[in-house]
Amino acid sequence: MGRIYSWPLWQLAVPYDQARKSQCRKEKLLAGQVLLPSIRTNEFSRANRANKRGDWKDPVPRLVLHFENGGFLVFYNCQMQWCSSPVADPASDILSAEFHRGQALDALRAPSPVCYTLLDQRYFSGLGNIIKNEILYLAKIHPLTRGSVLAPSDLEHLLDCAIQFSSDWLQSKLRGEGLHLQIYHKERCPLGHAVMKATFGPLSGYKRLTWWCPQCQPAVLSGVGEPTPVTE
Ligand SMILES: [Zn+2]
Repeated sequence: MGRIYSWPLWQLAVPYDQARKSQCRKEKLLAGQVLLPSIRTNEFSRANRANKRGDWKDPVPRLVLHFENGGFLVFYNCQMQWCSSPVADPASDILSAEFHRGQALDALRAPSPVCYTLLDQRYFSGLGNIIKNEILYLAKIHPLTRGSVLAPSDLEHLLDCAIQFSSDWLQSKLRGEGLHLQIYHKERCPLGHAVMKATFGPLSGYKRLTWWCPQCQPAVLSGVGEPTPVTE
């Protein structure tokens, strides 16, 4: 299991939708299928109320990874499978020094909705649903906007938002601090507008809940027909 220690911390947090599609085999190394909000760094989750019997029981972790520097990662509410090896291409890891910006921009420029592309772990390893929602709000881009209709400067800005938000989130987690979200699971955006919520995803792929503000993130007409979202 020594190899696990060399994995970049961020790459252990494989978004569930990507991980569930990974090719897994039982005979090889462990890899996580993890819902991002269920990770604790250097601390265990504690019970915040009593159960029906009146007992205060802390949540039971499903996986704990200890590192040589004394730090540890605790995973709750995750699925695990035996798998050939983790998908770990530093060029697609948004927090790696080797992250390939040009490759990411090429992917974003595709005619598919940007909210689909952002969750494509081939290009944005480590980018999960919370990050997707928050950065689209920060960049003022409607989730279903096709990348091909966005200006190069908009794509650059969206990518900057992805890297900055992810980096800030990681640092705040390492400090044990919470994250201030602007749109994810919100009923109103910070400017007070009513927020919309729907489930979006590729026809053949995994669908994820998406929040957006129709006023701060107006829809951009692509002229080639809007994608058909799956709505709750
Ligand atoms: Zn708004």
